[in-house]
Amino acid sequence: MTTPTAPATLSSSQQLKGKCALVTGSTSGIGLGIACALAAHGANIMLNGFGDHAAAERLIAGFGVEVDYHGADMSKPDEIEALMAATAKRFGRTDILVNNAGIQHVAPVSDFPVERWDAVIAINLSSAFHTSRLALPAMQAANWGRIINIASVHGLVGSVQKSAYVAAKHGIIGLTKVTALENATTGVTANAICPGWVLTPLVQAQVDTRAKQLGVSIEEATRGLLAEKEPSQQFTTPEELGELAVFLCGPASGNIRGAAWVMDGGWSAQ
Ligand code: NAD
Repeated sequence: MTTPTAPATLSSSQQLKGKCALVTGSTSGIGLGIACALAAHGANIMLNGFGDHAAAERLIAGFGVEVDYHGADMSKPDEIEALMAATAKRFGRTDILVNNAGIQHVAPVSDFPVERWDAVIAINLSSAFHTSRLALPAMQAANWGRIINIASVHGLVGSVQKSAYVAAKHGIIGLTKVTALENATTGVTANAICPGWVLTPLVQAQVDTRAKQLGVSIEEATRGLLAEKEPSQQFTTPEELGELAVFLCGPASGNIRGAAWVMDGGWSAQ
């Protein structure tokens, strides 16, 4: 388990003061980066995920906001209902919903374990349907809300051996569009963010496998991974994704609806 560390540089303000942001899968990686960025702008945070939640809670509390944690397994609708109820009880309602929890499994379609397919679809796609359906009524009543779905460049293009992940990510972009359209005349927006490679535990596992398979160093495997897909040959960072999430919650973003916003070093421009 990786211990969360303080983010490098984040902008800060009080523009989200009094709002509650629920970020699923926020004990590490991108989710934690987004939770930090929202907290740096004053939002209270409900954390979720299977990582070191005490360390994540301390990190968020350092921004001077309220923080809580719920350990719901996002593959289980009844636990998602408990998470949404706990968030409403603690903070009044979910104003900002960031659907971020996700897993990966790599195998060709013909060998893809059925249980892994079901888990990827449940965690990476169906969980966002459940949180959204449960969060929307209070957002609609308040005439303000932000749903940010963490999709992927794999919501726009495919890669071999990632059938379940690519299907789930294409699906969540569809869910984002429909959610945005159904609320288009209200103060509730829904958008997707589509990162390319971000060096988190989820990607580190793929780098490690690549190094082992090719018999090369971690550094060489990392360079190879980037060179294959990303013209910038750079990772996007959780802090950069956090700043984009803050923008999507801000005053200039009210008419951004149903977008699938890439931050992928040029991957999908090719
Ligand atoms: P990560 O492994 O660091 O984070 C995933 C988070 O989800 C963790 O907090 C984990 O505990 C949580 N999680 C996993 N299964 C869960 C479950 N059943 N219930 C609750 N929480 C669960 O990975 P990450 O790279 O930060 O991924 C976050 C999101 O970003 C995912 O949706 C992923 O698909 C997406 N994404 C990642 C990259 C990348 O390059 N890292 C690129 C594009 C999109």
